Amino acid sequence: MPETDPYFPTSGDPRYHVHRYELDLDYRPEPNRLSGTARLNAIAAEGGGQLAEFTLDLAAGFRLGRVLVNGKAPHYAHRAGKLRVRPAKPLAPGTAFTVEVHWTGNPKPVRSPWGGIGWEELDDGALVASQPIGAPSWYPCNDRPGDKASYQISLTTPSPYAVVLGGRLLTRTVKSSSTTWVYDQPAPTSSYLVGVAIGPLHQIRLDDPDAEGVPQYGWAPHARVPAFAAAFSRQPEMMGLFQELFGPYPFDRYTAVVVDEELDVPVEAQAMATFGTNHLEPGWQSERMVAHELAHQWFGNSLSVADWRHIWLNEGFAKYAEWLWSEASGAAPAAERAAKAYQLLASLPQDLRLADPGRRLMFDDRLYQRGGVTVHALRVVLGDEAFVRMLRDWTRLHRHSLVTTEAFLAHVRRYAAVPVDDLLQEWLFETALPAFPQ
Ligand SMILES: [Zn+2]
Repeated sequence: MPETDPYFPTSGDPRYHVHRYELDLDYRPEPNRLSGTARLNAIAAEGGGQLAEFTLDLAAGFRLGRVLVNGKAPHYAHRAGKLRVRPAKPLAPGTAFTVEVHWTGNPKPVRSPWGGIGWEELDDGALVASQPIGAPSWYPCNDRPGDKASYQISLTTPSPYAVVLGGRLLTRTVKSSSTTWVYDQPAPTSSYLVGVAIGPLHQIRLDDPDAEGVPQYGWAPHARVPAFAAAFSRQPEMMGLFQELFGPYPFDRYTAVVVDEELDVPVEAQAMATFGTNHLEPGWQSERMVAHELAHQWFGNSLSVADWRHIWLNEGFAKYAEWLWSEASGAAPAAERAAKAYQLLASLPQDLRLADPGRRLMFDDRLYQRGGVTVHALRVVLGDEAFVRMLRDWTRLHRHSLVTTEAFLAHVRRYAAVPVDDLLQEWLFETALPAFPQ
């Protein structure tokens, strides 16, 4: 049976698995008021005993309405962000069950060492960016990256606002002054990757609708549409390159949103990414972020970390994807980008263990840079042909599933003509900076 996350032991509950969430939400931006109904299809873990009690993560500020398990009222208590549920009858290992929760309140970001995460009210609308533990700021969930589920989300909000989620828009229904948007995401999705953007946004198509490719949509405030179109103009080429290098794009569409605010960093969501207006400046800094967020659709979203110790498998590969794009687009070769990152790393403290950085350093810039250089080191030792074969097989074998550093090590060995264990030991498990790969 999986265990709780070593970095966030109070998040999630490994004693059961949710395979589908159906969320019915109503959001009023002016009072910042959210009311919701969640229907979860879940299954009690095999290998445990009878499940007499389980927990859902939901921020403490919400008021709970009805709670049901298999249609019957359980005992429950909602304290400190945990909804503890004791079903009328204990659940046998491996049994399917349903949970229904009604809640209302004013959603606000969850406090974290990286600032507020989760549901955030904007000047005109709202935004959800939950990595790593912000999802309970807006809906009850089993908040572990390894507990992936399909989603159907219905969100009703005043008609002038657009509601953007990663997935297929099934219906959009206008009723008096409100509009209900229903989205479906059939691919297994980690709770932190359910992204939402609500605002006065306009949709544009980024790819050529007549070409046979992954449909790529953009959403931006009206005044930002030209800058958005310019900043994302090369994304269809990136999509082409990454499909060559990483294998087929794992979802049925991709949506990039720019909200009408500045954001610290863009954030990936399932089949979606959210950017701030400050990420539209022409030049490499914006271009690399467009590439980075797109690459997360393979590394992070389709292949998800079993727990947060393995985050370099998301960020190292997304960072290296920036450099691969740089090289393919005729800008600096990846080796040059890697050398620059190496110089930067050499000037910084060397106390970061890439393969298990600890909670404090999991989003440290050194994890991204060292992660990218580590992937480069693998490319150098494998050679380009085996490197690409290794990457494509990695994303194919673990598509829509969970990955760990150990699984990656076992995978890489099969593509190397020479032993790579010592090299990977140095880059992944030791803190001192190894020699630059060449
Ligand atoms: Zn990233």
